[in-house]
Amino acid sequence: MKLVFATNNLNKLKEVQSILPERIELLSLKDIGCHEDIPENQDTIEGNAIQKADYLKTHYGYDCFADDTGLEVKALNGEPGVFSARYAGPQRNAEDNMNKLLNNLESKDDRSAQFKTVIALILNGEQHTFTGICKGDITTSKSGNKGFGYDPIFKPEGYQQTFAEMDLDLKNEIGHRGKAIKLLIAFLS
Ligand code: IMP
Repeated sequence: MKLVFATNNLNKLKEVQSILPERIELLSLKDIGCHEDIPENQDTIEGNAIQKADYLKTHYGYDCFADDTGLEVKALNGEPGVFSARYAGPQRNAEDNMNKLLNNLESKDDRSAQFKTVIALILNGEQHTFTGICKGDITTSKSGNKGFGYDPIFKPEGYQQTFAEMDLDLKNEIGHRGKAIKLLIAFLS
């Protein structure tokens, strides 16, 4: 069975392929000749994941799955959420995004937050979603240089390090994306 993963990140693709049953062959966007920007203009993380998967099914005909992730901060009513990538503007710059978030939280006592990943799967004409959540706190300053995005200012619950100070294996094990992927794999297996 061929299944498209709506990504061009070969590391993500390899990682998921290595834990899937052999009968499922993952294809990237490049593999199916999809080079355009897939629309993601919904107002929820779930809506964006579904929109991307629907777009691929409609335009390319393959069964497929797509993921979307956001950081939800309680004291900011769930912001940046679906706007996580472009929180500080269209330049999608991680440093600018983190600085904006730290500024907005300066006067707040509650620094709790969660990363949320939603994977939308379209298989045999049916849609399924899988959600992975990782709870934690926003630190008061940046720490660590691994990972990407908001990793230097997110400390997962039960740990003294930020995601950016953690080995990738540990982040994958306890993180939002890893949890959603595990649910997808359990379903496909
Ligand atoms: P995407 O849906 O995976 O493209 O994620 C959207 C945005 O959320 C990214 O541009 C990052 O700003 C942020 N983000 C997603 N996943 C992570 C993560 O694992 N660590 C830190 N930031 C993340």
